[in-house]
Amino acid sequence: MRMKKSKTGYENHLTTCPHCDKDVLDHMVECIFCKGELKPYYRPMEKNRAKQIRAWLTVVLTALALLIVLLELL
Ligand SMILES: [Zn+2]
Repeated sequence: MRMKKSKTGYENHLTTCPHCDKDVLDHMVECIFCKGELKPYYRPMEKNRAKQIRAWLTVVLTALALLIVLLELL
């Protein structure tokens, strides 16, 4: 039986550690070889999403406050 090299996508998630130049996975926050700090690829996206949620929340709360003021006036 011949061993077939299956494509798992593992290699697509490899990145190079800026501290020791070894291959590490791109979702890691710490290098498994040198324990250096890594910047995961999804971090900026999460930051953006948090910003979006906060902006959305501000809009909703403002609308709610306006609604309460309007109801008080009626
Ligand atoms: Zn490293």
